[in-house]
Amino acid sequence: MSFPANHRAIIVGGSLGGLLAAVTLRAAGWDVDVFETSHNQLESRGGGVVLQPDVLDALHFAGVRLPDPPGVPSGERIYLDRDDNRIEELYMPQMQTSWTLLYRAMKNALPTQVLHGGETFANFRQEGERVIAQFESGRAEQADLLIGADGIRSTLRSRLLPEVVPAYAGYVAWRGLVEEPDLPLLAANILRDRFVFQHSDGHLALSYLIPGEDDSTQIGRRRWNWVWYRKYTREQLNQLLIDRHGTARPFSLPPGTAKSTDTAQLKEDAKAMMGRTFHALVDSTDDPFMQPIVDLRTPKMVFCRALLLGDAASVPRPHTAGSTAKAASNAHTLALALQSAERNGETIDSALKQWESQQLERSKLMTSLGISLGNRVMNIAR
Ligand SMILES: Cc1cc2nc3c(=O)[nH]c(=O)nc-3n(C[C@H](O)[C@H](O)[C@H](O)COP(=O)(O)OP(=O)(O)OC[C@H]3O[C@@H](n4cnc5c(N)ncnc54)[C@H](O)[C@@H]3O)c2cc1C
Repeated sequence: MSFPANHRAIIVGGSLGGLLAAVTLRAAGWDVDVFETSHNQLESRGGGVVLQPDVLDALHFAGVRLPDPPGVPSGERIYLDRDDNRIEELYMPQMQTSWTLLYRAMKNALPTQVLHGGETFANFRQEGERVIAQFESGRAEQADLLIGADGIRSTLRSRLLPEVVPAYAGYVAWRGLVEEPDLPLLAANILRDRFVFQHSDGHLALSYLIPGEDDSTQIGRRRWNWVWYRKYTREQLNQLLIDRHGTARPFSLPPGTAKSTDTAQLKEDAKAMMGRTFHALVDSTDDPFMQPIVDLRTPKMVFCRALLLGDAASVPRPHTAGSTAKAASNAHTLALALQSAERNGETIDSALKQWESQQLERSKLMTSLGISLGNRVMNIAR
């Protein structure tokens, strides 16, 4: 059957992947509704994101305006040793932005009535060419497409492919944000305008400037973003995931949840293991947060009229600096495929099939690259 008159998509997950799907599908003429389990704004969740062309292309297609400039540029990439000597440098200009800036720009571009907070997707069924999504609240919604943009621990994926689960890669990313004026000048002078790494035996740190909490890119109002990859055994990780209230968190430690003993230990370790610059960054951070690095890739993304995108479908390790770009490409190419099918009198199903084969290939390349980069920099033999 060709396109129904008013085509509608239900999107599960209102983070970057879900909002990218919402804005690009709307630009392709679809009605969308986004269902997000959190009641509140997700804005405090994110750190830095390298702004890749795929993200800019998707937002341009969707007519989403970003602040000008949309991030903080860096020119050089420099590598420091344990004593802060420059051991390598290359000119590699790029732009760094923040999760919050992208999230806010897309959220502001969507009518408020399409965003439904506090709705947890539970299950779905397919009836002919319609999908019916069920939510824990008892709500049921019908549409032509159901899109799972519900992240690494996707409920939709667990219904479709219960055997595909994230695999812990053996190390975590500790992350932190420091207000620009709060970093000692000695460290700031080394880090400013650059993408800086410190790579030592079995651990790796990196830092770059991102816009301030209010999206400002003015000097003095930006934030230092850092990531420190460190190895922990599964048992050590389980201990870390017990938060400051004694609750075992299932996946990560958002800002403000790490135990004070773990934060203190992190700062001690930074003093012992890092040069003065990165030690100053970690030491100046009030609320470091932590995400385990995991590997995940689904063998399929389309299941009749239900599909997976963003982290729900595959998770490239962050060394690729490309997960948001992958989510953007997933969403943008989906919108383009559906738009072209409609214009050419083709079916939704043929568009989905073509989209899936391209995007699976991309996922495979990115996840493989992330694994090989990560294992190499962390000295993990596989
Ligand atoms: C250390 C680290 C560094 C990173 N750095 C970068 C970088 O430099 N560049 C980059 O591009 N990316 C980076 N990323 C990855 C990036 O943050 C994500 O890949 C990207 O935002 C896409 O996520 P998503 O929207 O698919 O999933 P998520 O952001 O995980 O969102 C899923 C959403 O679904 C909601 N949800 C879950 N279950 C349900 C349910 N049952 N019902 C309703 N809602 C539900 C969740 O509450 C959440 O809001 C990094 C990640 C890590 C861990």
